Amino acid sequence: MYIDKFKKIVIKVGSSILIDETGKPKKKWLQEFGKDIKNLINKKKQIVIVSSGAIAMGCEYLKIKKNGLKVDKSQAVASIGQIELMNFYKKTFDKNKIKISQILLTLDDTEQRRRSLNARRTIDNLITMGIVPVVNENDTVVTQEIRFGDNDTLAGQVAHLVDADLFVILSDVDGLCSEDPRQNPAASLISEVPEITSDIEQRAGSSRNQESSGGMQTKVQAAKHVAQFGVPTLIM
Ligand code: GLU
Repeated sequence: MYIDKFKKIVIKVGSSILIDETGKPKKKWLQEFGKDIKNLINKKKQIVIVSSGAIAMGCEYLKIKKNGLKVDKSQAVASIGQIELMNFYKKTFDKNKIKISQILLTLDDTEQRRRSLNARRTIDNLITMGIVPVVNENDTVVTQEIRFGDNDTLAGQVAHLVDADLFVILSDVDGLCSEDPRQNPAASLISEVPEITSDIEQRAGSSRNQESSGGMQTKVQAAKHVAQFGVPTLIM
């Protein structure tokens, strides 16, 4: 298997695969994901998860709609939903005997040397202790200007921060396509991208659905970022 070659793997989980169209958490999906993570741990892989879903789960908890929420309101909702999100992971991963921790980061934490070294050390310690860190953006303390804004970018920064060998972006589309498959069902999957050229960047467009904030554009940009450090990305 391709993944067998890599030891330290950062896996990004997007809201749209964790939460369904009605706003409910996808229990079955997370259970299966938990089994996959356990298999990887048994193969001595070191796993860091970057997960979205705080705002979506906060909306579900409060029974409000995500669409049209202003930034400050969504930050407040994220602080409620982050508890729901971590509970969801904890309950599900406990069943597979996977211990998790919560890490909340801001852009500053990955860009300022002292803070990023601290974050790195903490994550390294957790991994050594056999824990799977679950990272999200610290939505409460950031303003619009200093937000990552989407977890694809955050996950790319985390992959760099922890010196990952492989970056995996799990999405509700199979991968990068010749066009947006939601708009053109005839779009074909591009199975391998040896280099991220401007043509590839253009093809990525910015497809979105209700639960996601990034789309393919931010995934390709995150892949481009980690590729500078020799880290391959799987979008799947
Ligand atoms: N940090 C936001 C959340 O957990 C998500 C940002 C994103 O999905 O890209 O809801």
